[in-house]
Amino acid sequence: MGDRDLNLLRAVAEIGRLPGTRITALSGFYDTEPVGDVPQSTFLNAVLRLETSLSPRQLLAEFQRIETAVFRRTRDVPWGPRTMDLDILLYGGLVLEEEGLVIPHPRLHQRRFVLVPLAEIAPEVVHPLLSRRADELLNDLPAGERVTKV
Ligand code: AMP
Repeated sequence: MGDRDLNLLRAVAEIGRLPGTRITALSGFYDTEPVGDVPQSTFLNAVLRLETSLSPRQLLAEFQRIETAVFRRTRDVPWGPRTMDLDILLYGGLVLEEEGLVIPHPRLHQRRFVLVPLAEIAPEVVHPLLSRRADELLNDLPAGERVTKV
């Protein structure tokens, strides 16, 4: 919601300022059709790669702080419109399944709006559970929601 370009740029800037963290790649911005049944306008999505000394838990806590404090995000309609949603897709080759944190992100391989920008910046990155590269996962996906680079 809001000025979507500005919101994404702001999120990138905030992530770049996290302690012990450096952004090493950023995808283009993609206008994407919503997935699911909530009637709403399209989303703007991007994927970035970072190097960080933060643990997965610390990174998630920082992402949630940015969603809440910077974007004033409240959780109204699940899957519905929002100013910002920050997810950890992969964390190196780590596999983690804990209360409130699952890595790789459980729906990563099913979502065109994730795989298109991911394959743009890291086509060779391997999903540690599926043992498939990002570009292979994207090629495997049936035609689905529209994802357009802006
Ligand atoms: P969402 O509504 O998509 O922002 O869902 C956020 C919830 O997903 C939070 O309560 C997180 O604890 C949980 N979660 C589980 N795995 C992840 C992940 N890899 N990245 C971000 N949030 C996650």
